[in-house]
Amino acid sequence: MPSPEAMKILISGAEIAGLTLSFWLRLDGHDLTVVEKAPSLRDEGYMIDFFGSGYDVSERMLLLGELEKIHYPISRLAFVDANGREGDPELILSHVCLNQLHQVAERIADQSDDHDPDSAGYLA
Ligand SMILES: Cc1cc2nc3c(=O)[nH]c(=O)nc-3n(C[C@H](O)[C@H](O)[C@H](O)COP(=O)(O)OP(=O)(O)OC[C@H]3O[C@@H](n4cnc5c(N)ncnc54)[C@H](O)[C@@H]3O)c2cc1C
Repeated sequence: MPSPEAMKILISGAEIAGLTLSFWLRLDGHDLTVVEKAPSLRDEGYMIDFFGSGYDVSERMLLLGELEKIHYPISRLAFVDANGREGDPELILSHVCLNQLHQVAERIADQSDDHDPDSAGYLA
């Protein structure tokens, strides 16, 4: 249902957030101006994952049919460690973080003037 009072609204940025907001506010009857500093829409980019709220909103905007035409099917998603072994993503992330913490702790210990080998122990 349109808003009882239409507002003049300025949206800065004509990418996914700005354009999606424009869609919904226009539907609600507001008077919109969208400004974009780039000379044209971006036509380069990455292949993106597409699920969760973005998917739900696209469905509500009746865009899924158009998006289906340009989608690249992915049958399976796997997280692998440095050796290519598949594993639990949270476990892999924990190991990566722990490894980084050890390296940071070693660097701090190396840089410390009065080097105490146990001083950075709490980081590990
Ligand atoms: C490497 C990478 C991979 C990603 N992969 C995924 C993914 O797989 N799945 C996913 O859902 N998300 C992914 N994201 C996140 C996603 O790209 C962003 O969340 C999304 O693009 C944000 O959209 P936005 O419209 O808020 O901002 P942006 O896309 O940054 O758009 C902002 C717009 O505002 C314009 N602008 C900025 N300042 C001004 C100004 N002063 N005046 C006028 N215009 C202005 C810019 O030119 C731009 O067009 C990824 C991001 C990166 C960097």
